[in-house]
Amino acid sequence: MATMQTATEIAARVREGKQPAGEAVRACLERIEQLDGELGAFLWVDREGAQRRADAVDQRVAKGETDLPLAGVPVAVKDNICVAGTPTTCGSRILEKFVAPYEAHVAERLRAAGAIVIGKTNLDEFAMGSSTENSALGVTRNPWNRGHVPGGSSGGSAVAVAAGMVPVALGSDTGGSVRQPASFCGVVGLKPTYGRVSRYGLVAFGSSLDQIGPLARTAEDAALVLGAIAGADARDTTCLEAPVPAYADELAAPLAGTRVGIAREYFGEGLSDETRAAVDAAIGILRANGADVVDVHLPHMTYGVACYYLIAPAEASSNLARYDGVHYGHRAAANDIIDMYSASREEGFGAEVKRRIMLGTYALSSGYYDAYYARAMKVRTLLRRDFEHAFKQCDVICSPVTPTTAFAFGEKADDPLAMYLADVYTISANLAGIPAVSVPCGFDGRGLPVGLQIMGKPLAEGKVLSVAHHYQSLTDHHKKVPS
Ligand code: GLN
Repeated sequence: MATMQTATEIAARVREGKQPAGEAVRACLERIEQLDGELGAFLWVDREGAQRRADAVDQRVAKGETDLPLAGVPVAVKDNICVAGTPTTCGSRILEKFVAPYEAHVAERLRAAGAIVIGKTNLDEFAMGSSTENSALGVTRNPWNRGHVPGGSSGGSAVAVAAGMVPVALGSDTGGSVRQPASFCGVVGLKPTYGRVSRYGLVAFGSSLDQIGPLARTAEDAALVLGAIAGADARDTTCLEAPVPAYADELAAPLAGTRVGIAREYFGEGLSDETRAAVDAAIGILRANGADVVDVHLPHMTYGVACYYLIAPAEASSNLARYDGVHYGHRAAANDIIDMYSASREEGFGAEVKRRIMLGTYALSSGYYDAYYARAMKVRTLLRRDFEHAFKQCDVICSPVTPTTAFAFGEKADDPLAMYLADVYTISANLAGIPAVSVPCGFDGRGLPVGLQIMGKPLAEGKVLSVAHHYQSLTDHHKKVPS
């Protein structure tokens, strides 16, 4: 089936004139038609526009344009990333009718590379959550078991890729939101180094943590998309100017001699036996193929959850102040302006977003700032130093992505603390700003996917993707498709 072509295959064939750009687009649209009523990955699908833009890509190919790394590749984009002229809801009532007036940097780059944005995907409201259950606009189901969550917050993007509705998608990762749904849905998901990809046009959640990253079925496709979206952008002052390497070439770097660090902090209490077994087996495969496994220590890693759930809500409470019923989105009817502000926010935001705003406002308030926010920032520094130290002894660090496989709907929805604790393995990469990828490494007894996390030094996306790529060439977990 054409939709199961990889992005790498589609782009090569379209560039060589062997396949019109519309072919993969049509196949994806058919598959969305067939499956998405039940899976709910998309909030909006651009049926006519996608076809029109495919024709425009064919014209660029016919004119001899060659710099089209994503020629004719259909891409799904998380609905907190602005694509000009399309709805950008953030899964929230407050932005339900908002249409993006401008293009995010990544959307510009996708278009320039010849990709075709086919639709916008569901997410936890403002990317706050780990199951997509916090979306105000729809339910997204895990294609491996429809009674289970797809993970989150980029649940729609992960499902769109896992179910073959698109070859690749974009998500955003503040504390695990690309890697965790990738793990729950059996696909590859990469969080780049903080600053590697411009955040211009990504609706801000935790600005010092947010990064946009690709989801794909193969590390090779994730590398292809990263190469297209990474790089300097003056409109995001935290965006790095470091040149973008040829990731496709870096994939081939040998696995033999790679020092794989294992930190026992990632294998403690709460890790399920089945996940541990799958991750151990994956590390065994890397070792059997020439990697050197070394022990490393990250003594502050266990403070990550507490640290993150102060810093991320603090930043969110500040970022979300702009939704006041005046500038953006929903405006409530009220008698005076103060009532209008509060009624708009009361009606527009869901329970989890309100919880984060309250937690963050509290942590930043005078008298508590030093005890909570400032202290969390110090812990963050200690954690970053842990990684700097560990990476003197190894090239990558391997761990589970999540303590368990995908949980059932409702299992954690009423217990925010349990939901937060499940982010324990993904959060530290955001706090430290380092790149990390999730790659499928097996299934539990119920047939739900397990992910292996591979973390690297700042800007070592090529290395983590290369280890993931070698692992995929030695295994076939990623070739299994949900029935
Ligand atoms: N689950 C985490 C949270 O709820 C991470 C979310 C994210 O990465 N956007 O904040």
